[in-house]
Amino acid sequence: MATDYDIVILGAGPAGLTAGIYAARAHRSVLILDTASVGGQTVLTDQVANYPGVATTSGRALSQTMAAQARAFGCTIVPFARVSDVAVTGAEKSVAYRGGERARARAVIVATGGTPRRLGVEGEERFVGRGISFCATCDGEFFTDRPIAVVGGGNSALEEAVSLSRFASRITIVHEFDHFQAEPWIVAEARGNPKIEFLLSQRVLGFAGDGSLAALRSAHRETGEVTETPVEGCFVFIGYVPNSSMLEGQLKLSERGEVVTDGALATSEPGVFAAGDVRQTRVRQITTAVADGTVAALSALDYLNEEGL
Ligand SMILES: Cc1cc2nc3c(=O)[nH]c(=O)nc-3n(C[C@H](O)[C@H](O)[C@H](O)COP(=O)(O)OP(=O)(O)OC[C@H]3O[C@@H](n4cnc5c(N)ncnc54)[C@H](O)[C@@H]3O)c2cc1C
Repeated sequence: MATDYDIVILGAGPAGLTAGIYAARAHRSVLILDTASVGGQTVLTDQVANYPGVATTSGRALSQTMAAQARAFGCTIVPFARVSDVAVTGAEKSVAYRGGERARARAVIVATGGTPRRLGVEGEERFVGRGISFCATCDGEFFTDRPIAVVGGGNSALEEAVSLSRFASRITIVHEFDHFQAEPWIVAEARGNPKIEFLLSQRVLGFAGDGSLAALRSAHRETGEVTETPVEGCFVFIGYVPNSSMLEGQLKLSERGEVVTDGALATSEPGVFAAGDVRQTRVRQITTAVADGTVAALSALDYLNEEGL
């Protein structure tokens, strides 16, 4: 049986939870659905040191506080409720979740985030948040004066390697080809950086260490020669996958599958807004997700008021 809500929010990461806080505080009925529990990508990090007002915390603790705040204002949060189907074109909007249940909404906020592309090699999952990172802005400082690797050969990998050279003692860029898929200026900058060295034509085999990361193992793609590079950190920049597959055909998506929004975070469909990492944006941080959640909720509230809903 369908249930009616003023606003249904897809995703209980920092963007979705913030949108929920603002929408419920305005006395609107709010349902937040999430595939997993609460917190999104923040639960992958043991230490968040760049959230203003909170000197240092774990991602899990920060998101549990956000979720408690959202519930206190009246949000209904349903964990382990993956949204599999979305019908948001037109005035009647609904989403299907948990394999059959359906919620009807007057407005929808998409805050399903994304996933940094993984290498899928031995040891990777064990060291995520404990040496392996996908975010230089978030974690670079933790590797001050330590040897690290950067995996990837595009603009992001090279730009982040150069920026990480402010912290790390040595950076080994590990890339699968003998050339880069990056703009010439950043390739030149990386090549001219005395802290950066290159390990090219490599297939990453895995990560090793006792408790904390100690080495990255890779093999030359042609000769098969195996190299073990001692590193205390490894930043993986091999792409980013937005969680937007259920939106195909419903909302305008970029070539990379990001939801396209305007300045008010409205999507191509009236009454549907998007916030945080799932949308087309350059910076993906907890602070930007939280800011987006605020804007998307206020825009959704304006829409409901203007439409008399
Ligand atoms: C390892 C790691 C460390 C990081 N460290 C920091 C840091 O220190 N500081 C910082 O500012 N940023 C950090 N970031 C980035 C930060 O976590 C993200 O920018 C932020 O979490 C994005 O918030 P979001 O709400 O947009 O998306 P997410 O956090 O990705 O949340 C999206 C939620 O939507 C859910 N979802 C997805 N698909 C569906 C679906 N079909 N139906 C229902 N629910 C769905 C997901 O389960 C998830 O809970 C880190 C990221 C990673 C991966």
